[in-house]
Amino acid sequence: MLTEPDQRNDFQSRIREEEIEKYLVDGKDFIPEGEIEEKLATHRHPDSQHVRDILAKSLSIKTLDPDETATLLHVSDPELLTEMQETALKVKKKVYDNRIVTFAPLYLGNYCVNNCLYCGFRRDNRGAKRHVLSLDEIREEVRTLAGEIGHKRLIVVYGEHPLTNIDYMTKSIRTIYEVREKTRGGVGCIRRVNVNAPPLNVDELKRLAAVGIGTYQVFQETYHKKTYDYVHPQGTYKNHYRWRLYCMHRAQEAGIDDVGIGALFGLYDWRFEVMGLLYHAWELENRFGIGPHTVSFPRLEPAFHAPYIQDSPYRVSDEDFKKLMVVIRLSIPYTGMIITARENAAMRREAISLGITQTDASSRIGIGSYSHPESAQQEDNQQFILGDTRSLDEVIREYAQMGYISSFCTAGYRCGRTGKCIMDLLRSGQEGKFCKLNAVLTFREWLDDFAGEETKLAGEKILCGEIEEIRRQMPKVFPRFEEYYERVRKGERDLYF
Ligand code: SAM
Ligand code: SF4
Repeated sequence: MLTEPDQRNDFQSRIREEEIEKYLVDGKDFIPEGEIEEKLATHRHPDSQHVRDILAKSLSIKTLDPDETATLLHVSDPELLTEMQETALKVKKKVYDNRIVTFAPLYLGNYCVNNCLYCGFRRDNRGAKRHVLSLDEIREEVRTLAGEIGHKRLIVVYGEHPLTNIDYMTKSIRTIYEVREKTRGGVGCIRRVNVNAPPLNVDELKRLAAVGIGTYQVFQETYHKKTYDYVHPQGTYKNHYRWRLYCMHRAQEAGIDDVGIGALFGLYDWRFEVMGLLYHAWELENRFGIGPHTVSFPRLEPAFHAPYIQDSPYRVSDEDFKKLMVVIRLSIPYTGMIITARENAAMRREAISLGITQTDASSRIGIGSYSHPESAQQEDNQQFILGDTRSLDEVIREYAQMGYISSFCTAGYRCGRTGKCIMDLLRSGQEGKFCKLNAVLTFREWLDDFAGEETKLAGEKILCGEIEEIRRQMPKVFPRFEEYYERVRKGERDLYF
């Protein structure tokens, strides 16, 4: 642990005010609280025709403006709400077709110098059992994830602490990429590591970019400054609202152009937070021409020794949660939307038909819990309690039965289809073509390497339909696709377009 003077010095050298100030306009950041409150107040009684016009705009894959999002946030008429849900699903299908991307979280350490009132890892939680995975332990975790369960994508999660600083981050990510584990039909490995880490400075982010990460994810938690200040006590790094708010600007500067934003719903008014996410997306689009690759919207979950959660007056009901997912899908139509196993199976099922694109499965968030499942249910080494502990096999089977194909495609960032390039492809519906081909190839691999019998049956049915569509819609690429498909069937792995 750092002593207090050490922490002050480290704070001064890592947090660089000049990396914030250069982006301020007249000393102001891009979250105009007064304006947001005013828009929310003005659009309290939406007109149905106006709502329908906004839905038509969403369907043409255009980012909504703040007045339009504020209008949708206040729709309560059941008929209009149903139209909103149906349009959200149409938007999702237009951009992402029937694909769902799956991944697993890997928590690498739970030491943290911050004291966020809602988190089980916070410094003052003296009951927490703390541990940072050694490189050998990381290999063990990845062998289970890639060799037994069949994941290809991870989101690695770090607390903010010298033991898990940028040196550790880069070493741990390199170690993850190195692991190769024999599977039933080939070799399993992790092909894309996304990162959920504390805000870093530009130099640190350049080092992260150099190891080849997918998306860099940091949630603002709350865009409301007073609440932010309250739940992130003074004297901690995390108390610095603007250091966090501008971390995606620094990521772009450092060459990481796939960025993920998010808010922790339940800390402040959910409508305000959706507006915050929209302003954030607009700011990134306007400044860099690249909006967020993903948006996350975790809801506060019970956590060990974090009583603030029960006390919060802003916890979000299931009905409002569904509404906010729909409004995010309609407001930022091109973005990936992630729902995690914090939510229970029933809610995750519903979320799929509201426009979600990514979900985790087989998740364990205790430190070292994949290779040591007995520790998975210990409250004292995990951040919060999971709502859905089903296996990847069960989740994939359910999606297949609902008509969705689980994609393990990780080709995008390896072929340079990231940032502005992917944004343009998504908006024009072009990315769908590559994704469909890669989804089928990677799903084939997964069925052969990992699926149980029942899942295989459900999966084969989906695959038949997809292959037929490729034959009809992409006759020119079909012969090459067919050749790749046969090679995968024979045990070759990682072929992609
Ligand atoms: N330490 C880094 C940070 O705070 O940015 C990243 C890791 S943190 C473990 C990842 C995310 O978990 C946080 O950004 C927060 O939104 C979410 N989280 C924390 N406590 C939670 C809780 N009780 N329920 C649901 N999500 C929570
Ligand atoms: Fe630390 Fe992140 Fe948890 Fe806050 S949310 S206590 S920064 S791990």
